[in-house]
Amino acid sequence: MMKWVIRGLLAVGVIAVLGTVSSYLFVDRELNRMYGAFVEVAEPELEAETAETYALANVNVLAPEADRFIPDQSVIVEDGLIRTVGAGDVPEGIRAVDGQGMYLVPGFTDSHVHLWESANDLLLYVANGVTQVREMNGQPNNLAWKREIEEGRIGPEIFVVAPQFATFVGFEGVMVGWTQRKTIVRNRKEIEKAVADFKAAGYDALKSSSFLSRENYDQLSEVAAEAGMPLVGHIPVATDLDAVWRGSASEIAHIEELVKQLDKEFGGYGPDEAEAFLEFVRERSDDVAQNLVREGIMVTSTLDLVDSFHRQKSQLKEELQAVELAYENPGIAEGTVITSRGMGWLPEVNIYRWPEGMDARRQARSLVYWKAYAEAQHILLDAMLAHGVDILAGTDANVPVMVPGFSLHDELEAMNAAGMSPAEVLASATMKPATLMDSNTGEISAGRKAHLVLLRDNPLEDISATREIEMVMLGTRVFDRADLDAMLQSVADANAASRKVALAAE
Ligand SMILES: [Zn+2]
Repeated sequence: MMKWVIRGLLAVGVIAVLGTVSSYLFVDRELNRMYGAFVEVAEPELEAETAETYALANVNVLAPEADRFIPDQSVIVEDGLIRTVGAGDVPEGIRAVDGQGMYLVPGFTDSHVHLWESANDLLLYVANGVTQVREMNGQPNNLAWKREIEEGRIGPEIFVVAPQFATFVGFEGVMVGWTQRKTIVRNRKEIEKAVADFKAAGYDALKSSSFLSRENYDQLSEVAAEAGMPLVGHIPVATDLDAVWRGSASEIAHIEELVKQLDKEFGGYGPDEAEAFLEFVRERSDDVAQNLVREGIMVTSTLDLVDSFHRQKSQLKEELQAVELAYENPGIAEGTVITSRGMGWLPEVNIYRWPEGMDARRQARSLVYWKAYAEAQHILLDAMLAHGVDILAGTDANVPVMVPGFSLHDELEAMNAAGMSPAEVLASATMKPATLMDSNTGEISAGRKAHLVLLRDNPLEDISATREIEMVMLGTRVFDRADLDAMLQSVADANAASRKVALAAE
């Protein structure tokens, strides 16, 4: 009798274990799909050869201040670095590209991206002239790509921020850490261990998420400073702006973070208080900007994303048609239903969509709310510009509907439309991020890395000229227009072969 009871219990146990393991494997596979891991890897055929020495001749070169072009310059590149910039002919024997009538600018940086497991994004960045990205929730595979790129793989230079820190306990912590790939901590000891591990692994910075406790935020701020690692990212909901001013953060990952804090100070606005909230933001914005300047904290823009929230709710079809959806990793666009905090872009899974069955009156009120939310970030941007806060151009690429590479050009246009001059916009995507990332890029001068983009039109006259790319230089390699097109085509083909949901006809 006893024997059968034991056997029965064993059988139940085995089934439970098998059930747990197989559901774990199923969910893990779905997560990897959502993060873009299962899309074919694009392998473009390129003509580009490596060149130890080459030159760009007779070209307009963006001045280090990013506010004017210096005409008729020759730029000589040697071993991946800019050797000389100046008037005069290129010495004989050096292969020269004629840049007559064209505009040479430093390669662009997108200061807020999420690569996840979407390797083809690396090609999308290069093809869009984005020669550097800041990965804002880095994973071990992103660190591996960074090293492969240093050794010759085609891709932008990657500044990898470690997985963002969040405070959670127990089972919830395990689930958030696993499904959202965050660093879960509860106390100073755990923070110290994680920071030491990230530093040893080669991450470039640490990130606070919205979900750090007050206490853990202050602790992370101290531990980061002690470890000599930059602290960047969100302002936790549980803390306040004073904690940021007295802490060690060197960057805030969205202007939106400041909107959220002011909303909290205001007491939480609703559609009926939208105007009063905006008035409050106007009153508070100078003080916020002055504190940012005093503490030397840079702010990443992500303007276009936050402006798009209300449009993604009310006119998603048009929004999806307005972006280069064919290039977006289909795993990410299609998302998954297994986690509520997914990545999805398409109508059934879009993370910003209204709940099913919301009536017209409530939709109208929701629009009032989200339009005010977008407006608040513009008020803050105005104050930041007036006080001289350093702004970084960033998109939150791979969050809907920010297509890697392409979205940076949308962001630059949004920044220009929001009142930044083309020179300020260019600086926000070149020399400002180069300073934050200490990357020896961001301006065209002797000794800097040759991360360069040759444009057909003058972006100081019309910022949309950043899209008119003739050539991209990544150190010892020169990619002409045919190569850049081949990269884009290879990604579009890989996506088409990997899609589960067909794209809506144009
Ligand atoms: Zn982000």
